Amino acid sequence: MCRLRFVMAHRRGDAAAAGEDGAEQLAKASLSRKQLREFPDYEFTGQENKVNIIDLSRNSLSSIPQTIHIYTNVVELDISNNRISEIPEEIVKLTNLRTLNCKNNQLKTDSLPKDFGGFAALETVNFGGNVMLDFPMQLTEITSLKAIHFGGNRIRQVPPEIQKLSSLEYLYLGGNQLTSVPVEIGLLQRLKCLSLCDNRIETVPAELINLRHLKSLSLHNNRITTLPPQIISLGELCELSLRGNPLVVRFVRDLTWKPPTLLELSGRTVKNRGIPYTAEDLPSNLIEYLNSARHCLNPKCSGVYFSSHVEHIKFVDFCGKYRLPLLQYLCSPNCSSGSGYSSSNYTSSSDTESEDEGPVPSNKMKKVLLG
Ligand SMILES: [Zn+2]
Repeated sequence: MCRLRFVMAHRRGDAAAAGEDGAEQLAKASLSRKQLREFPDYEFTGQENKVNIIDLSRNSLSSIPQTIHIYTNVVELDISNNRISEIPEEIVKLTNLRTLNCKNNQLKTDSLPKDFGGFAALETVNFGGNVMLDFPMQLTEITSLKAIHFGGNRIRQVPPEIQKLSSLEYLYLGGNQLTSVPVEIGLLQRLKCLSLCDNRIETVPAELINLRHLKSLSLHNNRITTLPPQIISLGELCELSLRGNPLVVRFVRDLTWKPPTLLELSGRTVKNRGIPYTAEDLPSNLIEYLNSARHCLNPKCSGVYFSSHVEHIKFVDFCGKYRLPLLQYLCSPNCSSGSGYSSSNYTSSSDTESEDEGPVPSNKMKKVLLG
């Protein structure tokens, strides 16, 4: 029989059920690295409802028995680093389960039972290092979840239904095959840490700016070429990793300037000189066109553009520590060269609003782009 060891554990958000400091005494069965091939039911005879933490990590288990639900008071189950390829339906009957660690097994998306979303108290799940191709929809039903670890699978998409996880604080999706991020992630109001590194993401939705409590955003090793400028309003953010993205380098290489059409040139003249026009002078399509004029973002230029613009990198102060490269549109190459832009030295300040601040120290840029 396995000897239960008593450990003190902190129960988050439920101090009343535990001691004054939020800690409680839990009975733990440590069965890690025992070369087990099957779930050791015999170890628990007579104390099935006494054990609170079961650690079966680093064994050779290939399955979890359907009788798992007899361990009624388990709050933490660690079956990581085994060879498990299926989770039985009965696991959902562990109504006290708060942490489930299934890291490094052989689980596919359909290895989870249909009713996996029925957990009542589950706060942390770890499915890292498995072989899932899709994000299991059942997870989006577990509204008690605070942390999801899903690194190192082969997930291609995150479903918009993720927005239902309103308690979620930590979402790790690094090392998958994501090409995009659903805008609904911006609805996860409590999110503090979002890790999307080592994927194939090309753009990040501007909705991320709604994540007011976000402290850490990890985007390194993706295919990101631009960041939404609004990202600088994430006031709580103190970690941002961008290394290994074509950001900036590609901006500079790909800067193109398509000369304006005659229509655009005449439109600019009308707008820049304030030539009056009415619906009686011009056909409606031209009126519509003239009304679509956008202001050049160079504060020293009062010009407008229609569809022809120059892509320009503006460096913006971020958290008072870094300067972030953001893409903006200007009306002509003169507008950008006039403000000190130089493709051979893209770390120098190209921002007319802050040209008095001088060049960006290269160590600051390294921190945000490489660090
Ligand atoms: Zn301009």
